[in-house]
Amino acid sequence: MKVEVLAIGDELLIGQTVNTNAAWIGQEMSNRGYRVQRCLTIADDQHSIIHALDQILPDTNCIIITGGLGPTKDDLTKYTLAQYFESPIAIHQATLEQIESFFASRNKPMLEVNTQQAALPTKAKILKNRCGTAAGMWFEQREVIFISLPGVPYEMKTIMTEEAFPLLEERYKGTTLYHKTIHTQGIGESFLADQISDWEKRVREAGLGLAYLPSPGIVKLRLSSYTGKENEAQISAFFKELESLIPEHIYGYDDSNLAAALGAQLRAKKATIGTVESCTAGLLAKYIAGISGSSAYYQGALLTYSNSLKVKIAQVNAETLAQYGAVSEQVAIEMAANGRKILGVDYCLSTTGVPPA
Ligand code: ATP
Ligand code: MG
Repeated sequence: MKVEVLAIGDELLIGQTVNTNAAWIGQEMSNRGYRVQRCLTIADDQHSIIHALDQILPDTNCIIITGGLGPTKDDLTKYTLAQYFESPIAIHQATLEQIESFFASRNKPMLEVNTQQAALPTKAKILKNRCGTAAGMWFEQREVIFISLPGVPYEMKTIMTEEAFPLLEERYKGTTLYHKTIHTQGIGESFLADQISDWEKRVREAGLGLAYLPSPGIVKLRLSSYTGKENEAQISAFFKELESLIPEHIYGYDDSNLAAALGAQLRAKKATIGTVESCTAGLLAKYIAGISGSSAYYQGALLTYSNSLKVKIAQVNAETLAQYGAVSEQVAIEMAANGRKILGVDYCLSTTGVPPA
């Protein structure tokens, strides 16, 4: 099943609310082997909603719409959907009773606008909202399922879990998404893409999904198969190929991290390491020592944040500092080279720079 998410809300567009609904739906869909192929975020107005509905992708089987189902005048989704599907609106008795008991249990008076929340398009199958007053709606048109849900995250999740997913699972059997991730370091995303372009072309020709997941200094590459584990061997073979293509950049798979990979190499070599830090102020030490068993190779650190301590403790030449400045390759090299001797280690890493804002 291919899915689209349509998140409605001005507050999402201006960045006041983070679209956690789309993230949750994406995760839950892929856990069930359904494929979310697009998420759209749009304004709370009829024109935007209708325009978006008219433009769903031709192979989409199901569209999940969130937001704009509340009782206030800015909540237009229900009326827009009724108009779009040419459906009359009438009081839905079970929903009215549900809303009445919602208010009764809270000892709150019910307003006319709340009664109006039970007025629902008659063409929709109604999805019960146990946690609130805005029911979910399920429409079908030309083999496409449209599910409209409130924007409030816990109400949306409750209706999806209790009402919508069981119905979808009756209709569509999911295949489990299988993926494996390889980790690279020391090469930027675009340089990496350039180096592996032939490989990437063949991956795509094989029908696998490829995602670049960059973070500072690291780019992860995720290969996915939408037919479950069927392509596991093929994915392994593609990664093996990548290992010989860019061996110097690959340090691990899936849950591995750089500090653990470094530790594994040092253990294999029976070598030791130390650190001399300026701008990172101990962060590097924390990462390296954060790996269990790191005492086998990690000896310790010099923390030389100020220039005077770089000279006094790391024995950086004052002239190097004066000539090139603290944030320079020359100073970084002296810090590491001197640190190696001072700490009595095989390898020494140093950092100097301007901390990110
Ligand atoms: P209500 O009855 O509260 O009016 P509603 O269905 O009309 O419900 P909205 O008015 O769009 O929903 O949003 C209600 C609340 O849910 C707001 O606090 C909003 O910020 C939050 N919300 C809406 N959409 C999302 C989303 N996609 N992700 C996370 N939070 C959301
Ligand atoms: Mg609202």
